[in-house]
Amino acid sequence: MDTLEWLNLTPKLSDIDTWAKLWSVHDDPFPHIRCRTCDGYQQLRDSSKPFVHSPTCKLMGGQSRFPWRDLLWIVGNSSGNDL
Ligand SMILES: [Zn+2]
Repeated sequence: MDTLEWLNLTPKLSDIDTWAKLWSVHDDPFPHIRCRTCDGYQQLRDSSKPFVHSPTCKLMGGQSRFPWRDLLWIVGNSSGNDL
């Protein structure tokens, strides 16, 4: 799958409130997203890979495999609607 195809996939999580309940964003010492449930994290450079949750995380194998993609999609679509 190329990057454009990946970015255009509609995520299961399509609003920022739902997204923010599952994830938190950090930029120190590098940009990364953390799972609020298991505290697993993923760097921006790994954004096209499935998120690695801890084996006991309830989000494991669910809808939350590409948090960076979902975030980009949400940001892109919500700003477009207002302009
Ligand atoms: Zn998790």
